[in-house]
Amino acid sequence: MSLPPEKQKLLDIAIVITDGDMNNVNSTCPYCGKHSLIFSFTIIEPPRYGLFIACTECKRVEHFSLTEKPKNFREDFVLEEFQKLENEAHNFAIDIEMKNKKKS
Ligand SMILES: [Zn+2]
Repeated sequence: MSLPPEKQKLLDIAIVITDGDMNNVNSTCPYCGKHSLIFSFTIIEPPRYGLFIACTECKRVEHFSLTEKPKNFREDFVLEEFQKLENEAHNFAIDIEMKNKKKS
């Protein structure tokens, strides 16, 4: 994948949100440098889920579509405003191949 560096940084952040330690999520916006990132999981159609990362300062929004239910998924991480956006967002989605996928 050759993503612009800002998108690559957001992708790295997205992987921490979906699968990593939630306490270590980097909230620094790669576009404006402020600590102003928020995120929301969304439900597309299980097992497909979405993730939005948005900056409350510069208003950039990135959407990711996930191929399986993220390990860190919780209903209370689904924000209504982003769930509403979900249906319109597929054209902008970046597919994340979930890492550490275990077959059992
Ligand atoms: Zn920003």
